[in-house]
Amino acid sequence: MGQHLHTLGLGAILGALAALPFLGINDFYLQILFTIGVNYIAAAGLNVLVGYAGQKSLGHAGLFAVGAYTAAIASADFGIGAWTSIGLAAITGAVFGLVIAAPSVRVSGPSLAMVTIGFGIVVEKIVTEWTDIFKGQAGIYGIAAPTFLGKSFTNLHWVIFVGLLSVGLHLLFRSLLSGRFGRAFMAVQLAEPAAESVGISVVRAKTLAFVISAITCALAGALVAQQNQYFNSDFITFNLSIFLLVVVIFGGSGSLYGPLLGAVVLTLLDAWLARWPALQHFTYGALLLFALYLMPNGLAGALSRFFPARSNMAAKPAASGALVAAFTPGNSGAPLLAVSGLYKAYGGIIPVKEVSFEISPGKVHALIGPNGAGKTTLLNLISGHVPEDRGSVIFEGKDITGLPANRVASAGISRTFQNLKLFGHLSALDNVLIGAHLHVGTGIASALLGTPGNRRAETKAREDALALLDELGLGARAFDPANSLPYGLQRRLEIARALASRPRLLLLDEPAAGLNPQETRELGEVIRRIQAAGITILLIEHHMDLVMGISDHVLVLDYGEKIAEGAPEAIRRDPKVIAAYLGVEEAA
Ligand code: ATP
Repeated sequence: MGQHLHTLGLGAILGALAALPFLGINDFYLQILFTIGVNYIAAAGLNVLVGYAGQKSLGHAGLFAVGAYTAAIASADFGIGAWTSIGLAAITGAVFGLVIAAPSVRVSGPSLAMVTIGFGIVVEKIVTEWTDIFKGQAGIYGIAAPTFLGKSFTNLHWVIFVGLLSVGLHLLFRSLLSGRFGRAFMAVQLAEPAAESVGISVVRAKTLAFVISAITCALAGALVAQQNQYFNSDFITFNLSIFLLVVVIFGGSGSLYGPLLGAVVLTLLDAWLARWPALQHFTYGALLLFALYLMPNGLAGALSRFFPARSNMAAKPAASGALVAAFTPGNSGAPLLAVSGLYKAYGGIIPVKEVSFEISPGKVHALIGPNGAGKTTLLNLISGHVPEDRGSVIFEGKDITGLPANRVASAGISRTFQNLKLFGHLSALDNVLIGAHLHVGTGIASALLGTPGNRRAETKAREDALALLDELGLGARAFDPANSLPYGLQRRLEIARALASRPRLLLLDEPAAGLNPQETRELGEVIRRIQAAGITILLIEHHMDLVMGISDHVLVLDYGEKIAEGAPEAIRRDPKVIAAYLGVEEAA
């Protein structure tokens, strides 16, 4: 949504909150407004998890319970004040967010949904059955509410408070999600291996998203408990988890405004359907089935057609020469990469058998071999995408053996993939910005607050990314979705994304696959320019003209073993290499 429209909308909401005391709205409607606010608060955080990081959770009622019971027990059993109780609820929510994030590292998709359902059910059972502490259905009474001028909040105060809190949270999320962190969440959702290849820690991104969603759900729970001044186990049901998820998905997951639209529409619908409880659940089911069929991107997606997109044209590319300026040349003398005794087996298949070789800085190295020789597996072992069984990888004198892919990337190695792994519906610019993740120097606090430092870092990153796109001949397509580019440009965009992480060693897995002769020639030129910028290259390629034309050194793999290495001309004449390619016996 455009900046003006956003300011206007925000102004309208703040104006409505200021006018509220003079409108004489009765308690029934104030309760609905309060519920809209609370549902928005819970859904705004859940949207970060579901819509941005792509982790579906069906157990967030459990986190709502964590917040509600923390606030209830803190105030009713320990006499802790209302404001401190809200803070405690948020902290306890964050801790539980960390706990339920742990399985997301191992499982995803439906399995993760099952794990979160399990969490929700366990919490529901605990608060129902462990009556000594949680008082079950009888509930906890006398929960303290915040005060205003010495008196407990009235419904009017609650609406204004929750409204202001919602506006504050919206501004924080808007800033967070439009920058480095929002891009990292999206990258994790769209292609985990690609996200890791540019230094994004998938584990950290998912954990952060879980913690954010847990905090807002716990906050919502605490606010409901305090506003009611009473809370019992009947609030915590599987239906609540589904309701929160429906708010996000129906509103438009992955859109900043989706949770707001979802909260408004579904809360009103919920209030209207309250007299026909049987209809309520039927309606949520129907909404999920039919509304999403008609509006796959939710209400926000359907409405976005009527609003102008946020202008992307603001940033200008930095001065040309980005490629050269952006990188540190490799250190000379010692090998840049030393691989020794690398071994990987998948059951009886051994794609990499005790392979050793060295890569010298500043050169183009080619890795060739017949189909199935183990080239991609070797590349995956170096880049950390596949763990080795034994052997070592030393990069710039540092042992990087066994490091996960994101840490290999931060050590200075990035890569492209044989089967393109672009972030398809994001723009070419966003793809490159994700590539620059490690170099946009903003922390979570400054990203949330949108500090001037954060804005400067983002602007600089955009300028550099545009310059890099220009340098690789993609400048005119910077704002096009990656998956709308011709295939040759998509391959080049993957190279640009890898370069944005400022590697000293660039691994290219069959960069010419699927390119026509003209595109292949242009690719050769691009590789030469990258080399001239001081970046060492290791490329897997079947296209022999390209290999022989640009490589300084060629390694040959056959059945997982290194059978030859040397200058291209020598390799071309090597009988073992010829035999491997022609499939004849060496002796013959
Ligand atoms: P191509 O040139 O066709 O891309 P390649 O030289 O890159 O081939 P790899 O993709 O590394 O070869 O595969 C080497 C062998 O290892 C193949 O037989 C492949 O089926 C097997 N392989 C690779 N990954 C796995 C895996 N995850 N599980 C089982 N086998 C695997």
